[in-house]
Amino acid sequence: MKAIAVLGSTGSIGTQTLEIAEEFPDRFRVVALTAGNNLDLLIEQIRRHSPEVVALADAGRVADLRQRLAALEPALQPRRLPEILGGGEGLCAVAAWPTAELVVTGIVGCAGLLPTLAAIRAGKDLALANKETLIAAGPVVLPELATSGSRLLPADSEHSAIFQCLQGTPWPDTARLSTGVPTPGLRRIQLTASGGAFRDWDPADLHKATVADATSHPNWSMGRKITVDSATLMNKGLEVIEAHYLFGLDYDHIEIVIHPQSIIHSMVELADSSVLAQLGWPDMKLPILSCLSWPERIDTPWRRLDLTAVGSLTFRDPDASRYPCMGLAYAAGRAGGTMPAVLNAANEQAVALFLEERIHFLDIPRLIEQACERHTADLTADPSLETVLEMDAWARRQVQEEAARVEPRLLHA
Ligand code: NDP
Repeated sequence: MKAIAVLGSTGSIGTQTLEIAEEFPDRFRVVALTAGNNLDLLIEQIRRHSPEVVALADAGRVADLRQRLAALEPALQPRRLPEILGGGEGLCAVAAWPTAELVVTGIVGCAGLLPTLAAIRAGKDLALANKETLIAAGPVVLPELATSGSRLLPADSEHSAIFQCLQGTPWPDTARLSTGVPTPGLRRIQLTASGGAFRDWDPADLHKATVADATSHPNWSMGRKITVDSATLMNKGLEVIEAHYLFGLDYDHIEIVIHPQSIIHSMVELADSSVLAQLGWPDMKLPILSCLSWPERIDTPWRRLDLTAVGSLTFRDPDASRYPCMGLAYAAGRAGGTMPAVLNAANEQAVALFLEERIHFLDIPRLIEQACERHTADLTADPSLETVLEMDAWARRQVQEEAARVEPRLLHA
């Protein structure tokens, strides 16, 4: 039975991971959980999974959680209450929890960076959903992975697909993942993208896009931030950088293809021109389970793929003018060093402002581009963790100040 820690247990990745643990109770045991603010759901998860430890990001609510759990304690008998921790230190302690064998990183945004590093330093295997960690701090995370013995399993569906395809090559192990060395025989990666909420909109109408429009994904059910990232295609741009760090290919050999059905989850082209793809319904449970059970395959009763029901699979090139974030991500990835951290933080801040209805949808790329441009002269090629965190905070301030300075309705004009 594998002991798992779930960081961000109250989110989309976290809740799906816990559903899998409940579905296969003889395979997985949940020993540790973290949440941001959602106390009600965290308490329900504690009742169902009896973890050894939990941590709340919001340390100010730990006392409240303790009180509410103490009131529940009789109902939890004979199982004892978990240890309860709070704040950044608490999250890192959970990530490094001694009994956990595999840590699922389901925290959204760069907030996942320090807990993920804590898990790596403790030598844990990782199911990496929190892509922002690699984007912001690839140059810091990769060397840590190389020395810690921690194995990184990609939970993002596209990178899981690539990893699964590579099982069909002479390179089937995690050992060389994230070493920065190109995967032998791997010529090209094609990341498939649904195209997000606005794939069929006339680009001339995008200035009318509301939060409700941008958070309605056609195929996948995910958290709000990543759903907006899908609408801008920044999510795919971040995945390009993630693929670069994971599989060692340069940016000229990592491509994006719009595939509206989201059945092919990505493809690899090998040296002999053979193309391998991984297929499935658009359901994150499959890549999550693949990480949890790796290197085994678990027999599931899940809905089996029926291509005759799907009918046709279609593909097209992404339109760069519809998706300016895609070009920004490639440029930041190619610039390297601290630029992806700035891109990522500016994006997180801009998306947060958009979700609060303080800027327009079209302001998101504008604000990110400006932050990246301003950072060009200060780029650090081989940053320390401290520099990454400084640049992350700097980029957020840039976006906040610019959004406050200019009348929002003028920003996208
Ligand atoms: P959600 O917004 O659904 O969940 C985020 C989780 O992180 C919640 O548990 C939330 O807690 C917690 N959280 C939020 N802010 C903080 C913080 N500052 N410190 C600690 N914890 C925090 O996100 P998703 O599950 O959609 O995404 C999680 C990660 O997985 C992202 O990096 C995303 O890119 C990646 N991913 C997600 C996919 C998906 O299908 N959802 C697919 C592929 C990758 P609370 O709710 O309690 O406040």
